[in-house]
Amino acid sequence: MGLIELDGVTKTYGGERGLLDVLRRREPDTVDALDDVSLAVERGETYGVLGESGSGKTTLCRLLVALDAPSSGAVRFDGRDVDAQIETDERAFRARVQPVFQDPYESLNPRVSVGRTVAEPLVGRRDAAARRERVRDVLADVGLTPDAYLDARPRDLSGGERQRVALARALAPDPDVVVLDEPVSMLDARTRAAVLDRLATLQDDYGLTYVLVSHDYRLVRGVADRVAVLYRGRVVERGPTEAVLDRPRHPYTAALRDATPTLDPTTERRHADVTPAVTDAADSPAGCRFHPRCPRVVPPDDWTGSRDAFRRALRFRRRIAERDPVLDGHGSPDAVLAHGLVLDLPRAHRTATERDTDGARVDPDALDVGRDERAALVDAAAAVVRDDHEAADAALHGVVETVCARDAPPERPVDGRRVACHDPMPPERDA
Ligand code: ADP
Ligand code: MG
Repeated sequence: MGLIELDGVTKTYGGERGLLDVLRRREPDTVDALDDVSLAVERGETYGVLGESGSGKTTLCRLLVALDAPSSGAVRFDGRDVDAQIETDERAFRARVQPVFQDPYESLNPRVSVGRTVAEPLVGRRDAAARRERVRDVLADVGLTPDAYLDARPRDLSGGERQRVALARALAPDPDVVVLDEPVSMLDARTRAAVLDRLATLQDDYGLTYVLVSHDYRLVRGVADRVAVLYRGRVVERGPTEAVLDRPRHPYTAALRDATPTLDPTTERRHADVTPAVTDAADSPAGCRFHPRCPRVVPPDDWTGSRDAFRRALRFRRRIAERDPVLDGHGSPDAVLAHGLVLDLPRAHRTATERDTDGARVDPDALDVGRDERAALVDAAAAVVRDDHEAADAALHGVVETVCARDAPPERPVDGRRVACHDPMPPERDA
């Protein structure tokens, strides 16, 4: 049992029927910002949560600090349900679990003095003299000279100073857990290093437990003891930080790593083998949510071609389902295939050879597929030429199918971590 934990937590936003929904006679869109997430944070550790924008990181933070309640599942602190703790003694809970948010410009009232801001969580808990003393102590702890800052207003401070004030306020009630939502992403590089350094010292001095949420691979790699990688509201891989981030076994973790510029300019930058992010979070694909971007998407057992060819065929099938306009206006099946089989990797992520061979067109004859598979692709393309998308989809039925689109992969133990993937990556050999 962890000090603070999520147990099977789902958080759904939306679902209220707005005027537009009524007019369009449709059900309102909902987003599962978190989908059945469990994690347990141990006392004294730094638990990292890594994910791209929109993956559910802020939602997770808001649930941990009880600014929001889960749609289902439970949040527990010290073994007890957080909702129940809020009901019985909200003040006590809030003193023990403190948030620090990403934007120090929004999280502090610009007109309230630093002294009053930092004292705020102590009101009603200590007398005025003890409060003043405590405020001076924590300001000094975060590296702000009390006499210079007590009467300052946040509006007169820099981003780095404001984030230190936010940190001082979080520390004032002597919490057990600090939940840090992208705590340094708005700071410049030098301020960032100073704040991170201070966070590490404070963790030792106060015996703090951190949950640190970030989109920054290197940051999480540098500070977290354990990490969970979030993709669209689901944990795809988790475990000790070095195992997960240095030797990923989930294709998404690997893609994140490969998209991270290295600090060492002598190592060649690898390209991330992923197709562009699907930006509309309301449209969550079935099965593994990563599968439309996944370079390791699993072909059916009887697929005889290469995995790359399967991935392209699947991309073609999705283009048919989406009525992608790149399929329109071609006079021959081969021309449809030439456009339909393109993977559209982000330009920055392509290698030099991909730029040559995989621009706007693919040569269908160069594709590594079996005879029947090739015939199905040509049938589908011919149907697209006739503008018959149902027939096109039917031609690929039973041929271009994947377990990744059918079943959500359960998490399973792989090599010292847990991975939610139908086909985790093999171990990488050390270069
Ligand atoms: P992150 O912090 O990783 O960028 P968030 O937790 O902010 O992710 O958001 C996760 C998903 O939930 C996104 O698709 C976002 O649009 C949606 N979302 C977040 N907050 C709300 C809200 N209050 N109402 C509706 N949708 C929301
Ligand atoms: Mg966020």
